[in-house]
Amino acid sequence: MEYRKNDLVTLKIEDCGVDGEGIGKADGFTVFVKDAVIGDTVKAKIIKAKKNYGYGRLMEIIKPSLFRAEPECAFARQCGGCQLQALTYEKQLEFKEKKVRGHLERIGGFTQIPMESVIGAEHPFHYRNKAQFPVGMNKEGRIITGFYAGRTHTIIENRDCALGVKENKQVLDLVIDHMEKYGIQPYDEVTGKGLVRHILIRYGFFTGQIMVCVIVNGDRLPKAEILSGQLQQIPGMTSISININKKRNNVILGDRLEVLWGKPYIVDKIGDISYQISPLSFFQVNPYQTGKLYAKALEYAQLKGEENVWDLYCGTGTISLFLAQKARFVRGVEIIPAAIDNARENARLNHMENLEFFVGKAEEVLPREYEKNGTYADVIVVDPPRKGCDAHLLDTILKMNPSRVVYVSCDSATLARDLRYLCDGGYRLEKVCPVDMFPNTVSIETVCCLSR
Ligand code: SAH
Repeated sequence: MEYRKNDLVTLKIEDCGVDGEGIGKADGFTVFVKDAVIGDTVKAKIIKAKKNYGYGRLMEIIKPSLFRAEPECAFARQCGGCQLQALTYEKQLEFKEKKVRGHLERIGGFTQIPMESVIGAEHPFHYRNKAQFPVGMNKEGRIITGFYAGRTHTIIENRDCALGVKENKQVLDLVIDHMEKYGIQPYDEVTGKGLVRHILIRYGFFTGQIMVCVIVNGDRLPKAEILSGQLQQIPGMTSISININKKRNNVILGDRLEVLWGKPYIVDKIGDISYQISPLSFFQVNPYQTGKLYAKALEYAQLKGEENVWDLYCGTGTISLFLAQKARFVRGVEIIPAAIDNARENARLNHMENLEFFVGKAEEVLPREYEKNGTYADVIVVDPPRKGCDAHLLDTILKMNPSRVVYVSCDSATLARDLRYLCDGGYRLEKVCPVDMFPNTVSIETVCCLSR
């Protein structure tokens, strides 16, 4: 049977797509329905139809699934931040494990996958240590902040995100009140006019330190000292700054930072290690789960104390420092110079000396060090961005022939591709462990151990 736009169909949702959408069939015609969950029977309206499949809008839940959960956030459906709030947390974990397995099978061609159970979170809400709230104006001309709706830049007004910390609301209330009081305009992406673009808030879960950074399309924030004085009253406030970004693009932060009060960074801990975090540096957003992720990476590295280790895509050296506790020497490589400054600072802060950091592309630094200086490795750890590792880097890893490779990935599709490459080159996939760093969203982190 073929369906056309605007047709109404009744479906039993039997699967969940990689973006969390429900999937069901009507007379052999597959329909993807956002906001429908596995087990629901729903009525959907076809909004886009192809030959064998289409996309439907959820019109009515005829019979709700047993796996439905009441979303904690009233805006869960409109907001682009969470895709899985309507699903019980148990079922979310099952979905994520299946997603990783599916990619390893279909893209990687693996059959017997040595998968450990997914490591879930004890706190599926209020876990984020960082939030970047866009500031805009609604139709009535009132200043608003919240999060973008899925695939658009329409702000869904919400100062109290269910994934963030309670301090976010206090900070946002003060900044928006300040803007209203002194007539400070929010930035308008269409015209490029207006001043305040985003409000960045970071919170150190283990130290209680708070950072606020207001991103402005200008050189200063009017009456900044008054706002700063009010923000300082929030217990834990440690760093208040403005970041200057006059570029007409959707990159959130600019290069220039001006501290209004306090330090240019906050400190937080993962395990026994302290880290300095500045507004511009990358730091994992879920501190509880990060500890578990790094512990898993360390376990897979199987260090005895004599090993030479490379940590590629090391960011601010977070994993490097974790590994250095158990290795002879660790070398980290990262493309962003400021992150390497943080990494070196973090090594000093923890009085650790068995580390060296390189600024550059992993696919250039590692081959150079290997060919020119004959550096070798017992263990290589990689933690690349979504696009995965460069083929030239994987070739160098194969040439260097370390005993183990630990692959930390935030995208199981590119992970599967790279694991296949390494396994065709002589490695064996020993263990796979998904770690849920982002409860209520479709993202999943995975750690893998490969051995020669
Ligand atoms: N391991 C770190 C950071 C992982 S995020 C942690 O857990 O905190 C991935 C990092 O790779 C980012 O810091 C990014 O800047 C860096 N990066 C991206 N492309 C790179 C490349 N070609 N070579 C080296 N680093 C790169």
